[in-house]
Amino acid sequence: MKEGNAHYMKREEFLRSLQRKILVLDGAMGTMLQRAGLRAGEAPEALNLRAPEKVREVHESYLKAGADILQTNTFGGNRLKLSAYNLADKVTEINAKAVGIAKSVAKSTALVSASIGPIGAFLEPLGTLSFDECYEIFKEQVEAVINAGTDLISIETMSDIYEMKACLLAIRDATDIPVLAHMTFGENLRTLSGTDPAAAVALLEAGGATVVGANCSLGPKELIKVVEKMAKVAQIPLVVQPNAGMPQMIGEKTVYPVTPEEMGQYTIALVNAGANIIGGCCGTTPEHISAIAEAAANLRPSVKAGQNISLLSGWRTVTVLSPSERSVLVSEPIDIVEAGDNLSSIALEHKDLGAQLLYLTIPSGLDLKSRLYELQMISDMPLLIANDDPQGLTEILKSVMGKAWIRLSIASEEVLDRVLPIAKRFGAGLVIPTQDSKYPAENLESALDIVRDIADKVLNSGIQKHEIFIDVTLDSQGLYAIDDLERLEVLKGLWEKFRFRTLEFI
Ligand SMILES: [Zn+2]
Repeated sequence: MKEGNAHYMKREEFLRSLQRKILVLDGAMGTMLQRAGLRAGEAPEALNLRAPEKVREVHESYLKAGADILQTNTFGGNRLKLSAYNLADKVTEINAKAVGIAKSVAKSTALVSASIGPIGAFLEPLGTLSFDECYEIFKEQVEAVINAGTDLISIETMSDIYEMKACLLAIRDATDIPVLAHMTFGENLRTLSGTDPAAAVALLEAGGATVVGANCSLGPKELIKVVEKMAKVAQIPLVVQPNAGMPQMIGEKTVYPVTPEEMGQYTIALVNAGANIIGGCCGTTPEHISAIAEAAANLRPSVKAGQNISLLSGWRTVTVLSPSERSVLVSEPIDIVEAGDNLSSIALEHKDLGAQLLYLTIPSGLDLKSRLYELQMISDMPLLIANDDPQGLTEILKSVMGKAWIRLSIASEEVLDRVLPIAKRFGAGLVIPTQDSKYPAENLESALDIVRDIADKVLNSGIQKHEIFIDVTLDSQGLYAIDDLERLEVLKGLWEKFRFRTLEFI
């Protein structure tokens, strides 16, 4: 990750502005471009080149309506989607032009956020596109909008959390600018691939989103529930961009039922539910945005108090460890190669026994992608991975769809230096054993000595306390190095001294 100071300041600055006021995003782009004469069978993004003045007019109308952030006409501006219009070779040009148009309207009065939508194909294991291919497709679009000078990025209408992971990774590998990451939810308050709002928050936060939330979906009323569920677990601000309800066909016309006045009223409910940024998706117009801006002007943002909860998240659901819960229930270490075809059933057994994390020892150098996918399709348990080889770990983490934890083999600077950049890149948590290169800890004093320096270094890297667990076992077999009485003393001490949670094997 490039951590340029200028960008870092910008992100901090952006977060500070969210403490002062509710920011307003713009409304629908597609709806407006259709009205402005988008031709049948034409990519909306093609207008950036063919008729930039039409796009400019949409931005101008939203700026006038009170939008603080203008989102570029680049939602479908990736190679795969544009190839359907024979525009695959114009990705950079279309995206750069779009950012330029938005910036020329925003000047210094609004921010420009580059819109990035789904690539339009399912990833493995649900589809056939590989994670690496998906990453490359996003990377091309991301680089285009960054080089064109966008202030922010809005990832929108994602229904697959794994595709979102690839997109966030492509962004965070390239830049540190603020990212608003939106998933879209259906009637069951889950995404199409089954992720619930709390799990989405856990995974988007881990992936490096600056603000998380929802867009599109069923409309503002239904999204109130999504925002409430997100607010319960989020440590970072929330964004919401509802549709103007579900479209209805009246004669030849598509009509969206939610009026601007109603959108203004929903704005109050959405802010009360915890939203910090509000805009509109399909069917919203400058009138809707004006109503949102008017309502938002009288509302104060809620400030997130940092709470020491740990979110143990698979790719669909999450287990929340409350601030008073000191331990994490973990399975015995399972050798992924030895487990063979029984891996999924072993996982389910441990889940039934109450394990919250599935502890896998995974060797490097084997292609275990399909085995990991198969496991995750059956068991949604978050994974604790024992492997500190950078290359092997990178391949494994690409195949993990939930949030992973990585267990260091020993608590040494050398091992940490290998693992830390990869943990940071993939948003993984860390498990630190109370054993250094020489000895396992035998009492509280030696445990504190071993953990202190390593934990400090992890915390200084930006990984947070609730993402660090301590393992007081001797070896990869899950055997304890010390007797029960001493062990309880160590667990108590680690909690009282540092508020670190410890692993408890079931
Ligand atoms: Zn929409």
